Amino acid sequence: FNVPAPKNEPIFSYAPGTPERQKLKDAIAELRGKVLDIPLYIGNREVRTDKKLTLTPPHDHQHILGYTYECGPEHVTEAIQAALEARTAWAALPWEQRLAIFLKAAELSATKYRYLLNASTMLGQSKNAFQAEIDAACEWVDFLRFNVSFATEIYREQPISPDPLIWNQVEYRPLEGFVFALTPFNFTAISGNLPASAAMMGNVVVWKPAPTQMYSAYVLMQILKEAGVPDGVINLIQGDGPMIGNLVFSHPEFAGIHFTGSTAVFKSIWKTIGSNMDEYRYYPRIVGETGGKDFMLAHESADAKAYAANLLRAAFEFQGQKCSAASRAYVPTSIWETVWAEMKGMLETFKVGGTEDFSNFVNAVIDERAFTKITGYIDRAKQNPANTILWGGTYDKSKGWFVDPTIILTSDPHSETMEQEIFGPVLTIYLYEPAQFEETLSLIDRTSPYALTGAVFAQNRYAVELASKKLINSAGNFYINDKCTGAVVGQQPFGGARGSGTNDKAGSMQNLLRWVSARTIKESF
Ligand code: GLU
Repeated sequence: FNVPAPKNEPIFSYAPGTPERQKLKDAIAELRGKVLDIPLYIGNREVRTDKKLTLTPPHDHQHILGYTYECGPEHVTEAIQAALEARTAWAALPWEQRLAIFLKAAELSATKYRYLLNASTMLGQSKNAFQAEIDAACEWVDFLRFNVSFATEIYREQPISPDPLIWNQVEYRPLEGFVFALTPFNFTAISGNLPASAAMMGNVVVWKPAPTQMYSAYVLMQILKEAGVPDGVINLIQGDGPMIGNLVFSHPEFAGIHFTGSTAVFKSIWKTIGSNMDEYRYYPRIVGETGGKDFMLAHESADAKAYAANLLRAAFEFQGQKCSAASRAYVPTSIWETVWAEMKGMLETFKVGGTEDFSNFVNAVIDERAFTKITGYIDRAKQNPANTILWGGTYDKSKGWFVDPTIILTSDPHSETMEQEIFGPVLTIYLYEPAQFEETLSLIDRTSPYALTGAVFAQNRYAVELASKKLINSAGNFYINDKCTGAVVGQQPFGGARGSGTNDKAGSMQNLLRWVSARTIKESF
């Protein structure tokens, strides 16, 4: 079983006149013309309950994309049961056979389902074509292909046996019990990867996506099924989080959680797991990627124009709804004028609107809760005398959850929007005196409880080195002269520490090792 060395899936630009653009437009039109009925999947059953959830595009309240269902406690128990029943056969399947299924899923996603994956992400999560492509098509395919390749390395790695009378082996078995995947709305790829990577290593999974991602989760489920993931190996449920959590985390066969979401939810899950420790047969694996308050710092030697362009992309692509999004910037007064002139010129070209018009750069935020939270931050920022609203500060919920890109200039490096995660299109900028570069590094490190991503822009190599050293624990993904978003699977393994997660890099061998339990065998001849 020789897996071809994985390559990153090429990204389509969807530029005017390309055939891909038309195919994507057709897929969007086709989906818009349907009202999908999205069931839950438990074992070999499609489940529909009497609690219906209506799915609408975040940028268009009037349009109904489809319906899905909320489960009751009995369905959670059934999903766990279905997973446990599927476990023995799935764990016994040779790893080559399992991995072949996920390689096939990658092919299906890159070809037959590519436009549907993108269209469902654009309509359901309000991503523009390019943001959908790098997520739902490319990153998802990359996760599958790279993880298959990493998995083969794991299974093949063996200890040495220098004594000819002794044979040493290590077997990587799946965890006992079931894994729970709790997944976010903001990346279709992450949502698919959390259950898929655990299942790839032989585990059975109960998967609960964010309700706002159910539209594309449904497409992912079709692909996994068509690729050959057996019934019961991945069970898709939806419903009340605390109710589901209570049942999952009190189950004796709970083997681990693969999570991406908010820091607050992850902490409360960790506490629940801790208080239930006596119920379990195993120490559960707890793997989570959580919040961020990601910084982009410019040194006085920075290329001001490159910094400005990258800062805007990092702050406003996908409306800032990335854990990695730049939300606090530190700019020396000496280059500020050039930086701002460049930013302003670009901001004037940003169009806000629905995803069906491909010329819109900024789309809607995910739902009413997000809209209320983000606009609350903006309104409070306006009241703070330390702040000046340089751009935006406006919003409109009449047609969809639209928040205009907002830039706040602050004289207080500890103001609310410099410190707290907003998860929306809000960037706060603090200006510092160039001579205070080193102090600014300490300030960056101390300002937030998170440590996910960060970037420094500098031409001066001493400054790069100083920033890299002083910020060693401030970001799990650190960028030099690049934006702090857009990690590519296989190239920049992604994840952060401190309040940002367990740093078990997504799309890495290290992550896959969390989903196996090794048995060492020594045989004497
Ligand atoms: N991996 C993504 C990036 O590098 C961010 C993932 C997230 O927002 O959770 O931009």
